[in-house]
Amino acid sequence: MTKLSEASAPELRDGVEVFLFPRNGDSCQVLFLFLSNRRRLRIECKPAFAMLLKGLSKTQPLADTLKESRLVLDDETSAFLSFLEGEGIITLSDPLASGQLPTEYVEQYKRQLYFLLDILRSPQKVHEVQKRIFDAQIAVFGLGAVGCGILQQLCMMGFRRFALIDYADVEENDIARTPFQTASQIGLPKTLAAKALVDDLAFDPVVRLHNTTLQTRTDLDDLVQGTTLMVNTADEPYVGYTNIKLSRYALQHDIPLMAAGGFDAHLASLGELLVPHVTPCADCYATYFHESLKDWKPVPHPVKEREGWFGGLGSLSAFSASTAALDILTYFMNPQDKRAVAGGRGEFHFHDYSLDTFTVERDAHCQSCGEGRA
Ligand SMILES: [Zn+2]
Repeated sequence: MTKLSEASAPELRDGVEVFLFPRNGDSCQVLFLFLSNRRRLRIECKPAFAMLLKGLSKTQPLADTLKESRLVLDDETSAFLSFLEGEGIITLSDPLASGQLPTEYVEQYKRQLYFLLDILRSPQKVHEVQKRIFDAQIAVFGLGAVGCGILQQLCMMGFRRFALIDYADVEENDIARTPFQTASQIGLPKTLAAKALVDDLAFDPVVRLHNTTLQTRTDLDDLVQGTTLMVNTADEPYVGYTNIKLSRYALQHDIPLMAAGGFDAHLASLGELLVPHVTPCADCYATYFHESLKDWKPVPHPVKEREGWFGGLGSLSAFSASTAALDILTYFMNPQDKRAVAGGRGEFHFHDYSLDTFTVERDAHCQSCGEGRA
């Protein structure tokens, strides 16, 4: 507990909603709702304490707020404020201030940092996670609707160092599907348009651009030097090939790979995070599909008359991008926790709100990550 004095200026922290329910003259019920994890805390208190809660502000000394509520800083008031601080509802000193991260950065990402604090319950752990994010370099292969959607969300989470890889230029239809801002970007290399997005959103951005395709012989050392995590949304020549190429490299160099979803006929699909020697690799997935689809014959699509349903709208790509960005955040919150990164693949069906998911196990004989490897 930080020392309370009349000169201190406690404030209600960001991300906690307060609801007051007056009962009778002597008591008031207060509900605190934490937006991050929906934790609810209900208390009974004197109406004057409820008034005090409403008046707390970091720009006003506690002495003035107490006067407005006709209170003094006696043992009872101190105990009430200490209780609120212990529950993470008010802050006396900024728990997010840290010498490790720039003050402006902490200010920009305050909402997220408080949300992390609700989950991790320790300012030190919050700083560790956000510092990891601050320092990380993410290589994004493929800068279409899903790739740029992920990029946009990573910037909003505080990621700032990127290698961006794509060979194509922005086309007219990209404006309606991707987060590129203006039609003036039509004709620009996608890497440049994506850089503009990062420059706009990220704190102190550091961006490397590679206008190139991902071919069998592409030298990845050059593209991903210093990379902490790779994201793949490159679907040319085919996303299965690009995933396998990147996954084998990821295994050799111990770099996690987000094989994002959302392609072609698999709109609103969830991709999987491949963590070397923890989760299955892309070869394990390929073997699984090869085996399970051996006797597969094309069947009629479950949705008849699909003309009436949404097709390749940007909203569906944004769904896939959001789930990938959350998987990445989960990984950065817990890089050592194997269970936290074990998410599998799935697909969301908008027409009936159902979600198909399935889990692929690691193939013990996998030629890339199992006993079968050379
Ligand atoms: Zn494998």
